[in-house]
Amino acid sequence: MKESIKAIFLDRDGTLNEDKGYVHKVEDFALLPGVVEGLKLLKNEFIFIIITNQSGIRRSYYTVDDFHDFNRVLINTLDKEGITIKQIFFCPHKPEEKCECRKPNTHFIDLSVNEYNIDLNNSWVIGDHPSDALLGINAGCNTVFLLTGHGTVHYDELKEKNINPTIIAEDFLTAAKKILEFL
Ligand SMILES: [Mg+2]
Ligand SMILES: [Zn+2]
Repeated sequence: MKESIKAIFLDRDGTLNEDKGYVHKVEDFALLPGVVEGLKLLKNEFIFIIITNQSGIRRSYYTVDDFHDFNRVLINTLDKEGITIKQIFFCPHKPEEKCECRKPNTHFIDLSVNEYNIDLNNSWVIGDHPSDALLGINAGCNTVFLLTGHGTVHYDELKEKNINPTIIAEDFLTAAKKILEFL
């Protein structure tokens, strides 16, 4: 049997890069503080997979090509730091389309498990939105709710919706250090 591996499922906007709202222009790309340092701490233990809701595509705010162009800058920037993103999954749909791939649905985690034989109990979802925390809970992963990006705006929703992340962290580096304590 193939040995199972641990993954970190990363939200993109507001988690890795600054989110000015439907961020998609290459010139607006900026990594958040602590992201490179945090990913470097985690990269020997986990593979990194991005799962991102991109309803701006179906809202016609930007195109799939714009989305990929932005990703390319992100991937290249991390690559120069020796950090590999294994795969990027995205949901282009609007919430009202009720698709199966929009977070907090676990569709893309399910696909990843099949592809990479991932040990979900020892894997994590990191994001700045309650739907990220809920995704992790739905999939049986540990979760980090970040207070970067939209995190502070949505913080109260956690309690209202009774969503309990494993960790609530000020920034990505803090999150990474706390995750290592669980190993
Ligand atoms: Mg986000
Ligand atoms: Zn979708």
